[in-house]
Amino acid sequence: MQFSQLQLNPSILKALAAAGYEQPTPIQEQSIPYILEKRDLLGTAQTGTGKTAAFAVPILDLLCREHGQSTGSRHIRALVLSPTRELAIQIKESFDQYSRFLHLRNTVIFGGVSQIPQVSRLREGVDILVATPGRLLDLMNQRHVDLSHVSYFVLDEADRMLDMGFIHDVHKVVEKLPQNRQTLLFSATMPPDIARLADKLLKNPAQVSV
Ligand code: AMP
Repeated sequence: MQFSQLQLNPSILKALAAAGYEQPTPIQEQSIPYILEKRDLLGTAQTGTGKTAAFAVPILDLLCREHGQSTGSRHIRALVLSPTRELAIQIKESFDQYSRFLHLRNTVIFGGVSQIPQVSRLREGVDILVATPGRLLDLMNQRHVDLSHVSYFVLDEADRMLDMGFIHDVHKVVEKLPQNRQTLLFSATMPPDIARLADKLLKNPAQVSV
């Protein structure tokens, strides 16, 4: 299969070609059509399989489709939660890469550093926010982050999120998300507590596994 068979925005196809991607990986080939159909998704995939593009590419496509590329006031429309700062930075860089020919703003926030530059970027307006749970909650509590316009929510590496003790934070974030949203959950493993979490967060999810 080729990326061009996936009915993606030409600017995204151009960015994928510029990144040297020739063909979708199996997780991308399986996930992208479901996400474009606006299905919730439960994905079992490790890092290294191309799972970041499996969610980032279709989310970018949906964001361009629905609102065009130049809306007056920007709201956070896609939220990605990552258990670690390193992964959050990588995810944000992937969004930057695939959206380089689009006019969208991607930002990453994480703890352990000053919140001042993060707050000023949020004030400028953000379409896609990648975050670790603790810093996100801090900035939500200080009213620097408004999640009421989020249409796409990704919980990445859900098993690590649980292992690292972030489950309560995740639930607090989810409470503030609109009910009417698309949710994608990725995990390397699918133990019973992840299955329960998926049951709570996802509506009639498509399931993919690599
Ligand atoms: P990930 O599993 O998302 O961490 O991705 C692993 C690596 O594979 C990253 O360096 C990506 O840039 C790269 N990658 C993802 N999708 C593709 C693709 N379709 N073709 C070539 N490389 C890819």
